[in-house]
Amino acid sequence: KNNNDNKKVSPDRSAELYRKALTLMPGGCSRNTVLRSPNPLYAESAKSCYVTDIEGVTRVDFANNMAALIHGHAHPKIVANVTEQLNKGSAFTLATEVEIDYAEHLCSRNAGFGKIRFVNSGTEAVMSCLKAARAYTGRPKIAKVEGAYHGLYDHAEVSQTASPANWGDESNPNSVPVAFGTPEATLKDVVVIPFNDAERAITILDKHKDELACVLVDLLPHRVGLIPASQEFVVALREWTTNHNALLVFDEVITFRNGYGGAQDNYPVTPDLTAMGKMIGGGFPVGALAGRSDVMDVMNPLNDKVLFPHSGTFSANPVTMVAGLTAMTLFDREAVAKLNALGEQLRSQISEVIAIADVPACVTGDGSMFRIHMKANPPKNYRASFADAKESRIRTALVDYLFDNGFMMINTCSGTLSTEMTGKEINQFTQVLLDGLRKIKP
Ligand code: PLP
Repeated sequence: KNNNDNKKVSPDRSAELYRKALTLMPGGCSRNTVLRSPNPLYAESAKSCYVTDIEGVTRVDFANNMAALIHGHAHPKIVANVTEQLNKGSAFTLATEVEIDYAEHLCSRNAGFGKIRFVNSGTEAVMSCLKAARAYTGRPKIAKVEGAYHGLYDHAEVSQTASPANWGDESNPNSVPVAFGTPEATLKDVVVIPFNDAERAITILDKHKDELACVLVDLLPHRVGLIPASQEFVVALREWTTNHNALLVFDEVITFRNGYGGAQDNYPVTPDLTAMGKMIGGGFPVGALAGRSDVMDVMNPLNDKVLFPHSGTFSANPVTMVAGLTAMTLFDREAVAKLNALGEQLRSQISEVIAIADVPACVTGDGSMFRIHMKANPPKNYRASFADAKESRIRTALVDYLFDNGFMMINTCSGTLSTEMTGKEINQFTQVLLDGLRKIKP
């Protein structure tokens, strides 16, 4: 089904709901990412790679709940197994067998996963990695890439919103706070390095070598432009951390979808810790951290001294464990390869329609992830990918055009694929994208 002929069943329902929501929640929502002008739309139901809103319009879903869905919506096997678990109970103070089964499954996917712990979100997974690194090394500082998004933990969010007004010199980027009230001590303890610039990064790291607990890096950071980390950059960070007794932490909260054992399968290094989230929950809230057993053991309550006491009421929730185990079992090596090939096809078709439309735009990404930039050439890092007011306006116009013509995107004009998609959805999308680019004329 294509969605251009969808008729709105009740055109003003979302606007009406939004008016009420505004009186109850700041901005009318609990996730700023749902906002769009003039009002957010509200979901009614979803199946496979299609979402239907409350007004009766169905769209192909490239947003996948912010990259968290790998098999689209309401996959029959996930629904069946979760329903069975719900009937047995959804949360216990006791541990469950499925937690062990899922831990075993995830650890079997990556030789670097000696031990694992589950948490409830990507934010919590990254936070727990940073705390584990500090506990293990006894050092206060962490290093991260300029502009990279790692969730809401104080240290992890530094520099996330850096802009030309405050980012400082490229050789020594500022630790830009995100929220008012971020303590000075937090900013002092976060060292910001430029992406894919090994030489500059190492010079900066050297200045803090005795104080750094870890270097945190996402191998395909969305806000940095969705450009893959270069082998040279990652190898340099591995060598530097090993030589200086600091840990290397990969944030694979999104990118775990790009390889059977994560995007790290494509690199010749093993991190000490990996943060995961999103798709490993099979559609339910989740996070996990895995890595070297001796590092993970800072959380071990059986040790004489627990360096990092770690717990969480809903961690390893059985419904999430069942959903995650089902989803990831379905996402076997063959499914990963097939989805990555579809991603390759999509990016190549997007490049073709950009060339046909003859507009200054480009596509970046890897595996099952893509991002369209209103720039003639792919950006190399956060500063180069930064969209000024004009570019942001054009980008929003394109996202709105795609939305109005049947395709849900993430508002940076990016998206992910799900295993429910085929060449058919890709062809439909690139056809509408061509029309959109011609109409918007970036
Ligand atoms: N790390 C990365 C790379 C992310 O993209 C996100 C969320 O978008 C997070 C961490 C935080 O995950 P969550 O939203 O589940 O807290």
